[in-house]
Amino acid sequence: MTTSPSQKILCVLYPDPVGGYPPKYARDGIPTLSQYPDGQSLPTPKGLGFTPGQLVGSVSGGLGLRQFLEGQGHRFVVTSDKDGPDSVFEKELPDADIVISQPFWPGYLTAERIAKAPKLKMAITAGIGSDHVDLQAAIENNITVCEVTFSNSISVVEHAIMQILALVRDFVPQYQWVVNGGWNIADAVSRSYDLEGMDVGVVGSGRIGFGVLKRLKPFDVKLHYNDRYRLPTEVEEELGLTFHETVDSLVSACDVVSIHCPLHPETEHMFNDELIAKMRRGSYIVNTARGKICDREAIARALESGHLAGYAGDVWFPQPAPLDHPWRTMPNHAMTPHTSGSSLAGQHRYAAGVREILECWFEGRPIRNEYLITQGGALAGAGAHSYSEGDATGGSEEAARFTA
Ligand code: NAD
Repeated sequence: MTTSPSQKILCVLYPDPVGGYPPKYARDGIPTLSQYPDGQSLPTPKGLGFTPGQLVGSVSGGLGLRQFLEGQGHRFVVTSDKDGPDSVFEKELPDADIVISQPFWPGYLTAERIAKAPKLKMAITAGIGSDHVDLQAAIENNITVCEVTFSNSISVVEHAIMQILALVRDFVPQYQWVVNGGWNIADAVSRSYDLEGMDVGVVGSGRIGFGVLKRLKPFDVKLHYNDRYRLPTEVEEELGLTFHETVDSLVSACDVVSIHCPLHPETEHMFNDELIAKMRRGSYIVNTARGKICDREAIARALESGHLAGYAGDVWFPQPAPLDHPWRTMPNHAMTPHTSGSSLAGQHRYAAGVREILECWFEGRPIRNEYLITQGGALAGAGAHSYSEGDATGGSEEAARFTA
């Protein structure tokens, strides 16, 4: 039954596996969770067009939405062709009512593109982090921007912990010695340290940053954090946290810094030459937040000079990263493509959350406040808490230079 007039939903997803769709799964399912760690309830759609554990984040998976949307008479266009004026995204955008995109393969919704989409009323992020949308332009054009808050936060926490350990223990070259047929212990351990006893800090102690702090406590490290908001005293005492009013103070007190704030005008290029110079020689940075929070040339320079001992993360700018992106080839990195938030478990939750948002929209019910980034011409919900007004989306033309 159609509950609202037919709408066009334009969805940008990453391409299917090169080995074909669906892939052969390694396991038969994913664990069932009852709630998020802070008690927030999981997505509550009325239905789910897929089995949890399936790959729904790529084009053929379509977030499991096709039957639900087309069954109500809506048009559902899914593409991975997102960059440049001749892209399917750009061609389909002018009459789209709703855009769905993922941070992993972002359909950059710049002010120019928003100006070409007069019908656009909502941009949904299938995941967390809506910086690929020019939020200032969304505010000015009364576009609702929302994301599936908490859906993949813990997926990212686990990836960040993995990458902290990968850097400090120097996992990647050791693995490479094995693959290459060697047994060169002395080479393999000459940059390998213990995390125990180190000073480890997070920038941003929200859902992800706090999850990282909690999981690091049993490693017997000294924990630090910086955020716009201070955590309750009893939480600071329980985890033994040192709060830093400024990021400068944090980085100068740490051996490892893990970045977990959103990208917005306050945090764009926060990690530049000047800030990195304040870090201890041999520090490590893990960035699973957004590529543009770091000045990419400054990071590459600091690795070349040895001031930084390692850099890891999964977020780049632009995405996909062009082949000549310096982070592909700089020394002592342990980068992945943007995967941390798109585990099969994460996909289940963010796809279910997108469906919940769409059901609310079509039925005229309010979208959960915690999912909102902008609404009614202003920052709202999670957006009002964690973002600032303005635009940090610029420069996305570069993404068109990527060729696989
Ligand atoms: P959150 O809103 O719970 O936490 C963000 C925290 O950053 C908040 O506590 C906020 O106060 C803080 N913050 C904002 N501006 C700051 C500043 N200038 N300095 C210090 N702290 C600041 O969000 P979350 O779920 O923890 O996610 C954080 C970010 O992680 C997202 O916005 C997104 O960019 C990124 N993320 C990445 C992936 C991935 O796959 N790599 C997946 C999910 C989220």
